[in-house]
Amino acid sequence: MANLSDTLRAVHRLRVLARDLQDEINRAPIQLKARQAVVAKANKARDDARENLKKLQVTTREREADLKAQHKQLERYRDQLSSAADQKAYEALKHEIAAAEARCNELEETILTTMTQAEELAPTIPPLEAAAVKAQAEFEVYTSNQKERLAVQNEELKKAVADLKVAEEPLTGDVKVEYQRRVSSYGADALASTAGNSCSQCHTSIAQQVLLQLQMGHFATCTSCYRVLYLAE
Ligand SMILES: [Zn+2]
Repeated sequence: MANLSDTLRAVHRLRVLARDLQDEINRAPIQLKARQAVVAKANKARDDARENLKKLQVTTREREADLKAQHKQLERYRDQLSSAADQKAYEALKHEIAAAEARCNELEETILTTMTQAEELAPTIPPLEAAAVKAQAEFEVYTSNQKERLAVQNEELKKAVADLKVAEEPLTGDVKVEYQRRVSSYGADALASTAGNSCSQCHTSIAQQVLLQLQMGHFATCTSCYRVLYLAE
C-alpha cells in the first residue's frame, strides 16, 4: 500500500496537470480572438487603401469635368468680348475671364495633386492584398491546429480528472476532510512538497518535528501557508 506522501504527491501532480490543461483550454478563445484581430487589421489596411484610391480617382474625374465646364465658360466669355456693348461691359467680361482662368489653374493644381496621390497609392495596394491573403491563410492553419490541440487537451484533461479520482481514493476520514477544505480554498496549490526541507509553496523551512511526522506517514500541513505537505521524492 502506498504511504500518504506517495498518495499526496500523485494527487498534487494530477491536480496541477488538470489545472494547467484547463487553463490552456480556457485561453483558446482569447488566442483565437487575437488571431482574428490580426486578420481584421490586415483586411482593414487593404480596404482603406482601396477606398482612398477610389476617392482620389472620383475626385480627379469630378475636377476634370469642372475644368472642362470652366474652359467652355471661358470660350463663351471670349466670344462675348468682341460683341461687348461698351467699355464697361468689356471690362466686366475681362474681369470674368481673369477669374475663370484663375479657377482653371486651381482645378489643374487639384487634378495634378490627386493624380499624383493616386499614382503613389496604387502600388501599395497589391502588397496589402497579399498581406491580407497571408493573414487569412495563417489564421486558417492556426484554427485547424488549435482544434486538434484542443481535442488532445480535452482528452488529457478527462484522463487527468479520472486518474485524480483514483489517486484520491486512499484519502479517508479526517485527512480527506482537511485535504478537501484546502483544495476548495487553494485549488491545485493546496499541496506542497518538502523539497530541500522547505515548503514548495511558501519556501518556509519545515521543522524537524513536522518532517518526522511525515516520515511516519502522518498528515501534516505547513505552519506558514497551511498547505498539505508531502515528502519530496
Ligand atoms: Zn508553506
